[in-house]
Amino acid sequence: MLWIMFAALGALVGVLAAHRRGFSLVAGALGGAFLGPLSFLMFFVSSVDRGRTCPQCAERVKADARKCKHCGSELVPASVLKYGAAKSR
Ligand SMILES: [Zn+2]
Repeated sequence: MLWIMFAALGALVGVLAAHRRGFSLVAGALGGAFLGPLSFLMFFVSSVDRGRTCPQCAERVKADARKCKHCGSELVPASVLKYGAAKSR
């Protein structure tokens, strides 16, 4: 019976990870259920800050940075962009 709990938890994490990364939620749920506890690992790996490029100076900055550390220009955090776009849909 324990594997059902793992599969359900994995599916949940898979859906969350798919939502964050823009994958299909069904694929995330199936992958999460299949991987079980391993999906937690994938989720944390997927939430690692990969950074992005500042539009003003083209230097790498953190994805959630509000201000560029190189040129000091104002930035919109990637998370705000992502969730803002998701809401407007
Ligand atoms: Zn900059």
